[in-house]
Amino acid sequence: MTIPDEFENKIKEKLGSEFNAFRESLNEHSPVSVRINPRKRNSIPSADRVPWTEFGYYLNERPKFTFDPLFHAGTYYVQEASSMFLEQVLRQHVNSTGLNILDLSAAPGGKSTHILSLIDVESILISNEVIRARATILAENILKWGHPNSLVTNNDPKDFERLPGLFDVILVDAPCSGEGLFRKEPDAMNEWSPDNVNLCASRQKRILADVWPALKENGILVYSTCTYNEKENEENLLWLQQNHAVEFLRMRLDPAWGVVEVNNAIKGYRFYPHRVKGEGFFISAIRKKESTTGIHKIKKTVTTPSKKVQETLTSWISRAETFDFFQHQEYVFIFPKAKNEILELVKQNLRLGQAGTTLASLKHDKVVPEHASAMSIHINKENFDTAELSFDEAIQYLRRETFSWTDKERGFQLVTFEGVPLGWINSLGNRFNNLYPIDWRIRTNLKV
Ligand code: SAM
Repeated sequence: MTIPDEFENKIKEKLGSEFNAFRESLNEHSPVSVRINPRKRNSIPSADRVPWTEFGYYLNERPKFTFDPLFHAGTYYVQEASSMFLEQVLRQHVNSTGLNILDLSAAPGGKSTHILSLIDVESILISNEVIRARATILAENILKWGHPNSLVTNNDPKDFERLPGLFDVILVDAPCSGEGLFRKEPDAMNEWSPDNVNLCASRQKRILADVWPALKENGILVYSTCTYNEKENEENLLWLQQNHAVEFLRMRLDPAWGVVEVNNAIKGYRFYPHRVKGEGFFISAIRKKESTTGIHKIKKTVTTPSKKVQETLTSWISRAETFDFFQHQEYVFIFPKAKNEILELVKQNLRLGQAGTTLASLKHDKVVPEHASAMSIHINKENFDTAELSFDEAIQYLRRETFSWTDKERGFQLVTFEGVPLGWINSLGNRFNNLYPIDWRIRTNLKV
């Protein structure tokens, strides 16, 4: 692996005698790690744990995730291990309930799905992505994770100025020069240049300036990148400190983790691949020590479905009393009662792509289940006819194909694999219609 000279000189300066170990680590295989969805799966027996999270595991090899039905069922997310350190920031510094959280650069959804596993049902996560195509992928991953206390938006950071002081926590997982990904994604090396670093640094500064007003006084900004570059990390945070009242938060670290603390004018945490079992990463947590005033005018605009539809859907889910039912076009979704105002605010001020969990669509008099309800952590499986699929059937289902189906009950059925819902079918007795979302079907013809 030939790393760019300018990068090598800088990192040599920073790492000193550790440089050779760092250099060698770039020739090793990237560790494969996944984070389970604790609402759908308890553990991965016999796999080593990622030490700074309750939910992370290292796998011995990279399986073909496309051909694992449990992957499509949202029981785990494939995520690089260093990034899972976000959990420590939230556990050590964010402990109240009923929070408004913004994940500003959220696609494809690694940190958002992690946050959803860590917050209580009284808190809401807004996952935003500025690039439309990436926002679609983000929405898909959030939907599969199955939590109703989430909103997905597709906005520029500047648009959040419309929501002054709304958020208790804002995560800026910034687009960066990707120095920490040289091993995992060698293309990152080809795209690296000093000019690109400067471009990234000024873009990050603009993002921080744009989103800062949306943070509450005493709220926490979490800033992270997958680069070692000081221009993109320390210097941007120094700039924030010089222009605003901030307090950097320190983290308790287990020395065995191998995480390096930056503790000078700013505080942050660095991850190097020769010290941790993960890729290069930087993270810092900053408390806002100044006020932002702003008034949020809330109108009621979201409509509700008929009482009859609400009664039907109440039996579909657990904890139905904590949700309100809303209707958008023919779709009915649930959203936490406690956060109705946030739904209205976001709908009126941002480009909202997905809200809560869409349980069903209304077609004439019929209530037709939507895929999101099968993925929901609140689905009442007992309320439905279910059909457990074999591995081969599950893959055929995920390809949106049909297979032999005889003398079964008619109507909508939940299909499961190892007891976990994969989606819906409409049984016609001796055949069925496969209701798996057409855009998500497995298309590759490679053999399992
Ligand atoms: N947080 C994500 C996760 O854990 O899966 C990864 C985010 S990735 C490091 C950075 C994201 O920033 C990308 O999705 C990218 O599209 C987005 N982005 C690119 N330009 C941006 C901009 N000007 N403002 C905000 N986000 C931007």
